[in-house]
Amino acid sequence: MPAEESTGAPGHALCHRCGAALPDGARYCPACGARSRALPPAPPPPETNGKAKASLALGVAGFVAFPVVCSVLAIVLGQAAREEMARRPHETGAGLATAGILLGILGLIVGLIGAFVLTLLYLQSA
Ligand SMILES: [Zn+2]
Repeated sequence: MPAEESTGAPGHALCHRCGAALPDGARYCPACGARSRALPPAPPPPETNGKAKASLALGVAGFVAFPVVCSVLAIVLGQAAREEMARRPHETGAGLATAGILLGILGLIVGLIGAFVLTLLYLQSA
């Protein structure tokens, strides 16, 4: 795995022992002498895609609050979130979006079965 050098990354790598900035390509830390199998510089904190979070929340809401409507929204938003994240690689939340979509599908199925059962009960009681 030749991934030890952080080529192309902005800023300098930091020493994993003392945190000093390492010159480009340095094999040893000039401050403490530790081998620079360095931690690459900390990337900017990844942002979680907002639609992915909303999708998951709606997926859950499809079970506890408003079935079908929220479930459909969860699927739509989850799909939109995945498309957004494909264009914005720094954003995370793919797992959230997938969970939102799956919960949405599940909630939709449960909601439709529930509606079907309720309809049957209604027809029987009529
Ligand atoms: Zn060091």
